[in-house]
Amino acid sequence: VAAAANESAEDDKVIIGLTAKKETDFKNWYRQLLIKAEMLEYYDVSGCYVLRPNSYSIWEYIQQHFDAGIKKLGVRNCYFPMFVTEDMLQKEKDHIEGFAPEVAWVTKAGQSNLDKPVAIRPTSETVMYPTYAKWIKSWRDLPLRLNQWCNVVRWEFKNPLPFIRTREFLWQEGHTAFATKAEADVEVRHILQLYADVYEQLLAVPMMQGIKSHKEKFAGGLYTTTIEGFVPSTGRGIQAGTSHCLGQNFANMFDITFLDDQHQSQKVWQNSWGLSTRTLGVLCMIHGDNKGLVLPPRVAHTQVVVMPVGITARTTEQERLALTKAATDLVAILNAAGVRATDDCRTQVTPGYKFNHWELRGIPIRLEIGPRDLAKKETRAVRRDTGEACNLSVAEIVVSTQKLLDTMQSEMLARATAERDSRIREIMLFENGFVEALNAKCMVVSPWCNREACEDWVKDNSARQDDGSDAPIDEKEPSMGAKTLCLPFAYNEDPSRKFKEGTKCFACDKPADLWALWGRSY
Ligand code: AMP
Ligand code: ZN
Repeated sequence: VAAAANESAEDDKVIIGLTAKKETDFKNWYRQLLIKAEMLEYYDVSGCYVLRPNSYSIWEYIQQHFDAGIKKLGVRNCYFPMFVTEDMLQKEKDHIEGFAPEVAWVTKAGQSNLDKPVAIRPTSETVMYPTYAKWIKSWRDLPLRLNQWCNVVRWEFKNPLPFIRTREFLWQEGHTAFATKAEADVEVRHILQLYADVYEQLLAVPMMQGIKSHKEKFAGGLYTTTIEGFVPSTGRGIQAGTSHCLGQNFANMFDITFLDDQHQSQKVWQNSWGLSTRTLGVLCMIHGDNKGLVLPPRVAHTQVVVMPVGITARTTEQERLALTKAATDLVAILNAAGVRATDDCRTQVTPGYKFNHWELRGIPIRLEIGPRDLAKKETRAVRRDTGEACNLSVAEIVVSTQKLLDTMQSEMLARATAERDSRIREIMLFENGFVEALNAKCMVVSPWCNREACEDWVKDNSARQDDGSDAPIDEKEPSMGAKTLCLPFAYNEDPSRKFKEGTKCFACDKPADLWALWGRSY
């Protein structure tokens, strides 16, 4: 009987499980994972996707966590319209230059052309700041700190990638105004830390915090800070969230002025910051495996699934009912204690089928109850992340389950961090292994001169051509050149990493100015 059950479990795996391997066919693996774990559905407008409850619920946990964090800082939520006039959109020259190619326009209503087409927000600086100019008159009106949870549209022409690069995405955008640059600077870093917390504490994904190079900063801003993630399977970095200091550029263009307490007219200092549903893609790419999704417990809609096992042809109806009752009792106890549990007492499918079903969806813990467990007042717990199993006593199930969930949460982060760290190479000279490190799916930290021309040179000279062909390098492929992901704080703010007199840029003959983190990226 056991052999038969195993066989059918194998059959079920073929039907419902992933067929593409993460190690060898990452692209298809990712697509299958999202569809089969019911995270996302494809849609007939390219670059747009349906977020199913399994992914949207993770977004809700992220929202709750971050929203509480910014409210503690004094930020309040609001909502501005999604349309923006051409006049406003074009006010800040660098800003529109950066976004123009991706802006979607409404030009028609029904059959008639609009007199003045309106744009759909790619981000809301130009939507909100005319109103900020109206609201901010005196130093008493500052700071103004608002946030909105909304969608934006960026009609990207690069290959779309679910969650990671989409034409419409959900995000929050914070927009704040201060009397002084010092206050704005403090907030920029505070928000960046909240973003890092979302990834590290909720999603168990390590981040590298830093500042963007001049070339990579937000269009129209003064400076951009970023958290950078890393996908080991492809060796690519990913910009995971950004917190910008806009300086006074927008204040100048939108005339956001206030009278200070000396009755002097002053321009405000502004920040904007955004975190999008890209978070969900990063989570899936980092933690998923060949069985499917692996959810960190804190963002798992269902943390524990309880199921009766060991039911055979010889099991009496009475015994089966006792097992079912034990399973539903456990669920009730766990739910009452705030552990998100559900039972799977379906009788028309095999245990093997159920294992695959819940593993595919990444549910952190499976609790099995068989006749022998029942007799010993125990249940067998199996971890989704490692596959390890242990027996837990029913009497202590709440405490031991909570402890196991906490352990999984922190071990998932620790494992991902160790993996990420093992993929960072320190390289002092471009010729000494820079491209080789990229080809070995690593990121590189190097002393850098901080010049755009040098950054361009590195990009051009790090595109992979090891197949010997002259085929043009595709921006979307991992063979593309490396760019600076960030100028990492962990290096540049560490006194022990100050350059010795005479340290040169790794790629040119100019003096080194900063440590830069380089990588091929999404
Ligand atoms: P930005 O306003 O350009 O700084 O974008 C804020 C954040 O949104 C970035 O740090 C990305 O993580 C994310 N993001 C940018 N473009 C997209 C996109 N096309 N799809 C999903 N997320 C995006
Ligand atoms: Zn250089």
